[in-house]
Amino acid sequence: MDALPIRTLDELRKTPHWSFSSLNTFLNICSLRWAFERVYMAERESTAASLPFGRAFHAAASHFALCKMKGATPIIGELQDAFSEWLKLELSTTEKLRLDDGESFDTLNAQGRTMLLPLVEAWRDSQKVVAVSKAYSVPIMDGNGEQVSELPLIGESDLEVLEGGECVVVDWKTAARRWPDDKAGKDLQPTCLLYAKAKTAHDGRKWLFRFDVITKAKTPSIESHYTIRGKDDFNRLARLVEAVERAVNAEAFMPNEGGYFCSTCSYACACKAWHRKTSRATLSLAA
Ligand code: SF4
Repeated sequence: MDALPIRTLDELRKTPHWSFSSLNTFLNICSLRWAFERVYMAERESTAASLPFGRAFHAAASHFALCKMKGATPIIGELQDAFSEWLKLELSTTEKLRLDDGESFDTLNAQGRTMLLPLVEAWRDSQKVVAVSKAYSVPIMDGNGEQVSELPLIGESDLEVLEGGECVVVDWKTAARRWPDDKAGKDLQPTCLLYAKAKTAHDGRKWLFRFDVITKAKTPSIESHYTIRGKDDFNRLARLVEAVERAVNAEAFMPNEGGYFCSTCSYACACKAWHRKTSRATLSLAA
């Protein structure tokens, strides 16, 4: 089956789909959080400021890359001012915004403006921008060419460049600290986006993936982490989607309280009450 027609990510999100974000939440963050958001349609109790902050930062980074694509270089002060405006808008339109200790518009604004500096300074003019914020929707096929889900896989690349003869999908990440060396190789996002590239780019070229990670330190820095994926990774992605769909159909959603993610969860109260609303299922664990 050919790739579906390309629309914007916001349009693609309106119909049922799988995405990196959805799969990652289910597999690596918390399946119960996934269910509160996507099955039980629970009301959000709060939204951490990191979400609107990340959206504003991505808007500024995308604006910068679009200018570069057109051969222009925006003045850093103007880019920072644009970020401040996006941040103001994002914070004012985020429902049930939760500001943690020490967080305010001023502190977030100062942090974001400083984080734009390494992004701009480390920009390589040797790389040619070929796309910014490009959305994808592709069928999910296994290594035998069988479609494994009725839902498409959707996603968006932050940036696509030609760099030293290589085609590279780039994703900007803001992080509290530097990434360990093996993180990019294990991350599901390159698998999803490079799979989408493999299904849609018919020029036979191999694509690489690069995370540009900007730290939220007092003096932010940027580090690039390259990784690649191949057919076996794409087959594994298909099997993962199948396994997740089986778990969803069985309503096998569990809290993951041992992880790092409860402090940013928007469903903490619903989670506390979850076991009181769930009745005992009849299970057979016998072989
Ligand atoms: S509070 Fe923690 S365990 Fe509960 S749903 Fe949220 S992430 Fe999962």
